[in-house]
Amino acid sequence: MEVIYFYSLCCENVVHSSKYNLKEEIVVKNEEVMATPPSNLNYKQLFKKLPRGIVLVNQHDHIIYANSRGAFLLDFAEAKNLIETPAHELDKSIELYAEQGKQISFGAIFSFERVKKIDRDDLFRIYFPRTKKERWLSIVSQRVEQEEGDFALFSIVDLTQQKKSEKALQFINQISVNLSRSTDYIQQLQHFANQIVPQFADWCVVDMLNNEGELQNVAMAHTDSTKLESVKRMRSKYPPDSTNKTVGVWGAIYQGKSDFQSVVTKDSLQKVIKVPAVRRHLLELGLRSLITVPLIARGKTMGAVTFVWSDSEKNFDAFDLEFFETVCQRVALIIDNARLLDQAQREIELQKEIQYLLIEKEMTLELALRAGNMGVWDWDLKTNQLRWSEGLERLHGLNRGEFQGTLKHFTQLVHSQDLKRVSTAIEKAIETKSNFEQEFRIVQPSKAIRWMIGKGRVFLDEKGNPGRMVGIGIDITERRIAEESLKQSEQKFKSVFETSMDGIVITDGTGKILDANDSAVALFHLTKASLITQHLSSLIDVQTEKDFEKQWAAIQKQGKSRGEFELRTDEGATYIEYQASAEIFPNQTLLMLRDITERKAEQQRQEHFLGIASHELKNPLASIKAFVQLLRRYLKHVEDEKAHQYLEKVDNKVDALAHLINDLLDITRIKQGKLEFFYEFFDLDQLIRDAIEDIRVTSKLHPIRYTGLPNTEVMADKNRISQVIQNIIRNAMKYSPEGETVKVSLKKNDNNLTVAIKDQGYGIPSSDLKKLFQLYYRGQNYKVNNITGLGVGLYISSQIVKQHGGKIWVKSTEGKGSTFYFTLPLRRF
Ligand code: ADP
Repeated sequence: MEVIYFYSLCCENVVHSSKYNLKEEIVVKNEEVMATPPSNLNYKQLFKKLPRGIVLVNQHDHIIYANSRGAFLLDFAEAKNLIETPAHELDKSIELYAEQGKQISFGAIFSFERVKKIDRDDLFRIYFPRTKKERWLSIVSQRVEQEEGDFALFSIVDLTQQKKSEKALQFINQISVNLSRSTDYIQQLQHFANQIVPQFADWCVVDMLNNEGELQNVAMAHTDSTKLESVKRMRSKYPPDSTNKTVGVWGAIYQGKSDFQSVVTKDSLQKVIKVPAVRRHLLELGLRSLITVPLIARGKTMGAVTFVWSDSEKNFDAFDLEFFETVCQRVALIIDNARLLDQAQREIELQKEIQYLLIEKEMTLELALRAGNMGVWDWDLKTNQLRWSEGLERLHGLNRGEFQGTLKHFTQLVHSQDLKRVSTAIEKAIETKSNFEQEFRIVQPSKAIRWMIGKGRVFLDEKGNPGRMVGIGIDITERRIAEESLKQSEQKFKSVFETSMDGIVITDGTGKILDANDSAVALFHLTKASLITQHLSSLIDVQTEKDFEKQWAAIQKQGKSRGEFELRTDEGATYIEYQASAEIFPNQTLLMLRDITERKAEQQRQEHFLGIASHELKNPLASIKAFVQLLRRYLKHVEDEKAHQYLEKVDNKVDALAHLINDLLDITRIKQGKLEFFYEFFDLDQLIRDAIEDIRVTSKLHPIRYTGLPNTEVMADKNRISQVIQNIIRNAMKYSPEGETVKVSLKKNDNNLTVAIKDQGYGIPSSDLKKLFQLYYRGQNYKVNNITGLGVGLYISSQIVKQHGGKIWVKSTEGKGSTFYFTLPLRRF
C-alpha cells in the first residue's frame, strides 16, 4: 500500500508538473498509477531512476532521504552530503527566491510544518553563490502519512532551461519588434547589441561583410563604457585575423557555424588570436567566455556577432549557444529583409533615374530631330527592310514615304564617288559586329549635293548573329563647307606663301623664325635650313638691341606695323621694307619683306639730282632777280604804267620761283641731314609783324589780323621761323576764298610760345589731318584740287619746328576753316 502510494504520488507529480511543459518528463498514464505494482518493486531504485529530485523531510525537519538528482539540483555532489546537512545550514550555500523575487530561507521551504496535506507547487529561483549558478526549480511538496511517522515529500523539477527559453523567446520577440521599427540596418544592429548587454553578455560586437568581402565593425556594446572605447581601439588596430578560417569571427563566417568557447584560457585564446598584445589586452579586459555566431540568411553569411562574458564572471553554456543562434537567426532574417528593402528601394530610385535619363535622352534626340539636321534609320538584316524616319527622308530631299525601304534605294542616293567606301564600311560593321561611322555625300533628287555623317550599331539576334542595324544620319554640309573653305584658304595661303615675290617670314612671338618662303631665303642670302630657328634680331643690322626690341614691341602692340631695316650681308647693305602682322596665327607674327635697296639708291640719286638742279637753278635766278630789280630802278622815272606793272609781276614770279627752289633745296638738305640752323635771340612778336608785312607787300587779297604779345624773346633761327610763319600764313590765304581774314596770334605760357594762324577757308577733311605734314602730301579736298603746290611746305615747316624742340599741329573743320599751331620752347638751352 505504502509502495503504491509512493508510486502514484510520483506519477501524479509528473502529471502535475506537466503544466510547465517538461518534455523530458516521463509521462505515466493515470490508469497505470492505479494498477497494482509488482510486489518486488524496489522503491529506492525507482526514486533513483526518476528524472527529478526527491527529498524527504521528517517531522524534525531533518532530511531523511534525497536522490542523487535532488542533491544535484541543490548543488550537492552527493545525496549523502545533503542528508547530513541540517536544513538551516543550507541557507549558507543556497539562496532561494520566490517567483516574485522575495528571498526565502531554505529551511522555511523544506520544513515539515509547511507541508500540509494538500499539495503545494512552488516555483523558486535558486542561486548558488559558490558556483555563481542559477536555477529555476519547481518544488511540489506533500505530507505523507505513515504509521511510523509522517514525513514531507519534496519532488523537485529543474525548470531552468524552460525559464531561459521563456526569457529568450521574450527577448527574441522584443528584439524583432524593436528591429522592425527601423529600416537602417546598422542602426538596428547597434540597437540589438545594446539590448544584449548586460542581460545576456558583457560585450557584444557585430561585424558585417561589405560588398568587397571585407569585414566591417558596425555595432558594439559593453557594460563598461571605458572598456567599450578600449575594445573599439583594439578592434580598429587589430581587426579579426582573416587567415584564421577555423575559429574566431572569420572562423564562424568561413565555417558557417558558431565558434563557442565556454571557458577562455590563455591557451585557448592563442589559437584564435596570434598577436600577443591583443591576447594580453583581451585577458586584461577580463574575457572569459565567448560565442561568435554567424549571421546567415537565405544561405548567405552576412557577418557575425560575438558575445562575451567578462566582468560578470559568467560562462556561456550550451543553452546560451542555442539561444544566441536562435537570436542571430532572427536578427539575420530581419537585417536581410531590411537590406532587401533598401536594395529594392534603391533599385526603384535607380529605375526612376534611368527613366528620367531616358526621357531626357529622348527629348534631346527629339530636339535634334526637330532641329532638322538629323534622322533615324532601322535596318532589319533578315528581311532587308530599311526604315527611315521622316527627318531622314527630308534630309535626302525626299517627301514623306518616298523612300522605298531598301538598301538599294539608299545606295542610289549616295554620291557615286563615296558609294564604295560606304558599302565597305557597312559590310565590315556587320561582319565584325561593330559600329559603323562614315562621312559621305548624297545627291538629292534636285541634284543638290549634301554631306552626311552616318552612324550605326549592329544588334545581335538570340543566336548572336547580326539581326538589326540601327542608326542616325546627320547633315553636316555646313560643317564640311566650313572645313573645306578653311582648307582652301590654307591652300591659298600656302600658294601665296610659296610663290610670292615678296619674302614672307613667320616668326614666333619673340621673333624667332619658324618658316620662310624662297623669296625670304634669297633676301637673307642664306639657306632655308640655316635661316629657320634664327632670331630676326641676329640678322638685322640695328644700332642696338633695344632698337629691335622697340620695333618688335611696336609690331606686337599695334598688331600691324611697317618699317625698314638694314641687313648686312656679304654683298653689302641691303635695305628691307617690312610689313608685319602680329598674331596672324596664335603667337605667330607674319612679316612681308621687300628688298628696297635699289629703290633707296634710286631715291638717293633723285634727291642728289634735285639738290644739284635746284642749286644750278638758283644762280641764274639770282641774276634774273638782280637784273629785274636793276631794270625797275632804271625805269623808275619813266612814266610807263604798263612797264612798271609787268616788271612787278616778273619780280613776284621770280620770288615765287626762288621760294620753290629754296623749298626743293631744303628737302635735299633735310634728307641728307644738312639743314643748318643759326640760333640767335630775337623778339618773336616783332618777327611775326615783319613776316606779315612781307606778305602784305605781295598779296593784298586777304586781310591779316594779328594779336601780338610784347617781349617775347626767343632763341631760334630767325629766318627759318619766319619761313614757317610765312608758309602757314600763305597757305591760310591760298586755301581760303578771296577776302577772308587770316587771324594770327601769339600766346605764352611758362614753357612755350604758341603761334596760331587761323583761317576761315575750305578746311581739311579729317582723313587728311594726320598725313598733312608728310612730304609731298597734298590734300584731297575737291575745292583745293585746282590750287597748285608741291606738298612740301608743311613738311619743311614741321621739320624746322621739331628741330627747334617745338610742336606743330592743326585743328580743322571741313568748310569752316583751319587753325595751325606751332610752339617754340622758351628756354632752348
Ligand atoms: P602745298 O600747299 O604746296 O600743297 P603744303 O605742304 O603747304 O603744300 O600743304 C599740304 C596740304 O595741306 C595742301 O595741299 C592742302 O591740301 C593742305 N593745307 C595746308 N594748309 C591748309 C589750309 N590753311 N587750309 C586747308 N588746307 C590746307
